[in-house]
Amino acid sequence: MSEEIEKVKCLIIGSGPAGYTAAIYAARANMTPVLYQGMQPGGQLTTTNDVENFPGYPDGVTGPEMMIQLQAQSERFGAAVRTGWISKVDFTGPIHKVWVEDKKEIHCETVIISTGAEAKYLGLPSEQKYLELGGGVSACAVCDGFFYRNQETVIVGAGDSACEEAHYLSNICSKVTMLVRRDEFRASKIMVERVKKTENIEILYNTNTLEVLGDGEGVTGAKVKNSVTGEEQVIQCTGFFVAIGHKPNTDIFKSWIDLDQTGYIIGKPGSSKTNVPGVFVSGDASDKEYRQAITAAGTGCMAALDAERYLAAQN
Ligand code: NDP
Repeated sequence: MSEEIEKVKCLIIGSGPAGYTAAIYAARANMTPVLYQGMQPGGQLTTTNDVENFPGYPDGVTGPEMMIQLQAQSERFGAAVRTGWISKVDFTGPIHKVWVEDKKEIHCETVIISTGAEAKYLGLPSEQKYLELGGGVSACAVCDGFFYRNQETVIVGAGDSACEEAHYLSNICSKVTMLVRRDEFRASKIMVERVKKTENIEILYNTNTLEVLGDGEGVTGAKVKNSVTGEEQVIQCTGFFVAIGHKPNTDIFKSWIDLDQTGYIIGKPGSSKTNVPGVFVSGDASDKEYRQAITAAGTGCMAALDAERYLAAQN
């Protein structure tokens, strides 16, 4: 017998700062929100060590701790926080249909998309091989750096994430080699200075990865090429970290919601509205510009307020 269809006023998809903030506001407005946490409960912040720039934490807070607090705060007001992910949606009619892991069907009056973004990889077969093997390729220094204690690592990227992660690794690993594909960083000056001042970080500019080398079980090095001189070299390492940006988690919405060329949801300027009435967006799924916990939380608040006003106008 098929499961009964559940009806909810406000469904929130995703559990980063955007989703939980939307849940806090929606719960306090008596919208009895249901939040599905998705594949990575707590979102990207669970892989961030110290958060020092979120107002209200003068001594900083770890990403996982902040997410535990946000979840508790939303549950305090009655938000139903559930494990599981949304695998399919149908936004054709005024009632928005969603499916949890292709099984349970839910009919929602409003939906708040807070699905965030995920790490990008280089796409080299050798990188994917060792990523799948769990043998030395990672996109999260905070999660996996510990495994390379007192060992040599490589990190690819030149943005703020790469700088932050290189600095984090430098406190654990004996040496960190940073591969920057151009002759300059993209990261902010303060982050670049911090990296440059760190003794055990070596920066190789104009350098691209040709292959991640390994012994069949784990990474042993990286074969790289200087794009100016054409010179190739092998860098010894047991950990190969990739910090080259993120991809928004919006694939399941593409038949219904307007996305830009890179997959970010196009919101109506100055609001959280999408092209589908009753479906709202918050956080990194529509933000490639700011991508901060505080901006995600702010847009989560906007989405809950917009959803509340939408429901009020319907009734
Ligand atoms: P970014 O998009 O800012 O940077 C990605 C970096 O990866 C760029 O330097 C890019 O090189 C490089 N890159 C992309 N593809 C490749 C490739 N195939 N091979 C080699 N290198 C590649 O992403 P981030 O994740 O660093 O940052 C995202 C946003 O989050 C930014 O706005 C950033 O400011 C913010 N942030 C802020 C932090 C903080 O304030 N504490 C911490 C972390 C992130 P190129 O420059 O040549 O394009």
